[in-house]
Amino acid sequence: QSLEEALRASIRTIPDYPRPGIQFRDITTLLGNARAFRRSVDELVHPYAGLKIEKVAGIEARGFILGGAMAHQLSSGFIPIRKKGKLPHETVRVAYSLEYGLDEIEMHRDAVNAGDKVILVDDLIATGGTAEAAVKLLRQMGAEIVAACFVIDLPDLGGRAKLEALGVEVNTLISYE
Ligand code: IMP
Repeated sequence: QSLEEALRASIRTIPDYPRPGIQFRDITTLLGNARAFRRSVDELVHPYAGLKIEKVAGIEARGFILGGAMAHQLSSGFIPIRKKGKLPHETVRVAYSLEYGLDEIEMHRDAVNAGDKVILVDDLIATGGTAEAAVKLLRQMGAEIVAACFVIDLPDLGGRAKLEALGVEVNTLISYE
């Protein structure tokens, strides 16, 4: 079975969640499948082995699961990028727009050093608004973003193009139209 077939078989689609008309792509079934989980992480880190990546930055919450596994495999540190108000020490914060209104993400100010090579990760990229905000945070602190990685791309929503326009290399495993 190809990785793409394994992913299509192990990712669950929930119709009308969290709102009518949305097809929610649920990776908990992928995470629960030992072989599909391992293969996904292996494939996500493969291009970056040997590049001396200092940190993997994961976006709350599913990016933590993937990012922790990737950091272990790359012998890198891990940075949690969180919704506002959850980190205990001094933070840097960036606002980004949602369909209705604004949200903010943040990370600890001392989480990266200038010049650190960082890989950003989340489970899915849709409009790219969340990942774009994370890119801004990391670059603000002087990180060099080597790539942004996602299991799932929804290309119709334009997120990949948005990140590429910022000069970020984007690596995804599967896309859903
Ligand atoms: P964006 O900011 O529009 O790219 O949305 C991406 C963020 O929303 C990521 O943190 C995803 O985890 C989450 N997200 C959006 N749609 C889905 C979905 O269908 N399944 C899982 N997460 C989703």
